Amino acid sequence: MATVNDNYLKLKAGYLFPEIARRVNAFAQANPDAPIIRLGIGDVTEPLPEACRQAMIKAVEDMGDRSLFKGYGPEQGYEWLREKIAKHDFQARGCEIDASEIFVSDGSKCDTGNILEIFGHDNTIAVTDPVYPVYVDTNVMAGNTGEANDRGEYAGLVYLPISAENNFTAEIPSQKVDLVYLCFPNNPTGAVATKEYLKAWVDYAKANGTIIFFDAAYEAYVTDESLPRSIYEIEGARDCAIEFRSFSKNAGFTGTRCALTVVPKTLTAKASDGSDVELWKLWNRRQSTKFNGVSYIVQRGAEAVYSEEGQAQIKTLVNFYLENAKIIREQLTAAGLSVYGGVNAPYVWVKTPNGLSSWDFFDKLLNVCNVVGTPGSGFGAAGEGYFRISAFNSRENVVEAMKRITAKF
Ligand code: PLP
Repeated sequence: MATVNDNYLKLKAGYLFPEIARRVNAFAQANPDAPIIRLGIGDVTEPLPEACRQAMIKAVEDMGDRSLFKGYGPEQGYEWLREKIAKHDFQARGCEIDASEIFVSDGSKCDTGNILEIFGHDNTIAVTDPVYPVYVDTNVMAGNTGEANDRGEYAGLVYLPISAENNFTAEIPSQKVDLVYLCFPNNPTGAVATKEYLKAWVDYAKANGTIIFFDAAYEAYVTDESLPRSIYEIEGARDCAIEFRSFSKNAGFTGTRCALTVVPKTLTAKASDGSDVELWKLWNRRQSTKFNGVSYIVQRGAEAVYSEEGQAQIKTLVNFYLENAKIIREQLTAAGLSVYGGVNAPYVWVKTPNGLSSWDFFDKLLNVCNVVGTPGSGFGAAGEGYFRISAFNSRENVVEAMKRITAKF
């Protein structure tokens, strides 16, 4: 008899977004004329930049030309894309990252989950609370945790609480952890990290043999030049950090799919016999065995992000969402709510008024304003009493949603 991976049975049943969809559908069925505005899920809404579209159209034509046709590409990504990423995203900001250390993939979501395959099951793993739920669930699936308690916290994980008291930046732990996930600009809180803060983590990681998983999916939203966009802007990070990046939120590739993971060749972890093993080699082996690369067409589209027009177009795109975030911040503040994030980040994190629970505020906003957001408690126990509003929507919808909220609160 076949058996299942029992770890999947530990996952909490009501995953956040299906539960939101269930409540919104029930409301829409009962109120078919309600003009619902969705500011919940972090998907982009603006179309692909022209430069990326043109590059992909050209790439489709290449595929119809026998002399230019491409079959399987390199599992790590085409050299021309990796070179551009290394130059523009890293070397131009003073980071010593070589093209060979960049692995192009079809998403940061899969990479942040898949990376666990090259690590042992005996690591102590830390996540912030609240957190991007993928980090937690992929550890549960991999068997790195015990069962969840009634707050949804899994045995075996170290939760680092983030709240207004610590500016939504976790304290450096007093205990030793082997792996830690950091996400800046942060989903869900919209918090950003200073260089000094990341330096403290790099120092901690180097002192303890910790590997930092640095998720920079929203780095393009950092417009303050004093803030780091990559962990490799911090001295020593090459020896303790893996960075995840994506074309989803800077260039609207959520449906097109392209991302990258940086594994420096200087990064090592211990084998069970105590020897040092290069993580680059293991990730390269993993990708070569289990992944056949991102399509040529999509990689050409991603390459166009680095052209002069591409750079100007993605800047316009990011600024558009940042302006939405500013409107949300200003309007909610004017409505008397306590508001965090939304500067250098596309998410606004709101304290629920009058001590309402996250889900009660969700229901109130849906019923009274017909606006959908995301309950903070869905991102972890410490997210209770908070609410996430996403700037990924049309200007018209953002303005209208804020008008309704300010009128009712
Ligand atoms: N990392 C974070 C923090 C995210 O919020 C998201 C998507 O919302 C991702 C990664 C996923 O990115 P991708 O579209 O590249 O899979």
